[in-house]
Amino acid sequence: MLQLESFVFGPFQENTYVLYDDNSGDGIILDPGCYQDHENQQLLEFVTDNRINITKIVNTHCHIDHVLGNEFAKVKFNAPLAIPEGEQEVYRAVKSYAPVYGFPKYKESEIDEFIDESDVLRFGEISLEIMLVPGHSPGHLAFYHKDSKICIGGDVLFQGSIGRTDLPGGDHQTLINSIHTKMFLLPDDVTVYCGHGPPTTIGEEKKSNPFCALV
Ligand SMILES: [Zn+2]
Repeated sequence: MLQLESFVFGPFQENTYVLYDDNSGDGIILDPGCYQDHENQQLLEFVTDNRINITKIVNTHCHIDHVLGNEFAKVKFNAPLAIPEGEQEVYRAVKSYAPVYGFPKYKESEIDEFIDESDVLRFGEISLEIMLVPGHSPGHLAFYHKDSKICIGGDVLFQGSIGRTDLPGGDHQTLINSIHTKMFLLPDDVTVYCGHGPPTTIGEEKKSNPFCALV
């Protein structure tokens, strides 16, 4: 069965997720945003205490707050890094602005794998469908587990809000389109685990999100 644990890291209050299969013990880390030693420690302790075998580090998109802990996780768990095919430029840019944002220790990790909508993200007996949902960032991906009705949505859709579109590669209409033609095709009772803030459901956002509700 799929298990999910979330952590809130850093000044951006970014949500980092560990997803794992409690049968096999295999799991992945989505968007490791840890940077400070105590944050790294918190992630490490959870993985160690639960005896999770991390098989991959995955980013929904590559803004700084979502990739800060890539290097720590990759080295500590000896796992490959997979980033969205369309996020390479966004990822490469991070090292140039990280010091300005107050993260001088940021180190760009080597990319081991590019993933896109045609792939399936597998660990243990779990398979996650991949959706391309650009707009907040050009190659942004979301991950959906049909059986547990869970979607890891990154910075596309938030409880009562949507991702910002004023960063390089962002586009408001593209984002709304991704929400309407991809996210909102998921069943209403799917829980969306967001890149920031609390989880929400597709049904709730369809009904009441001030930016993208279907009226
Ligand atoms: Zn972002």
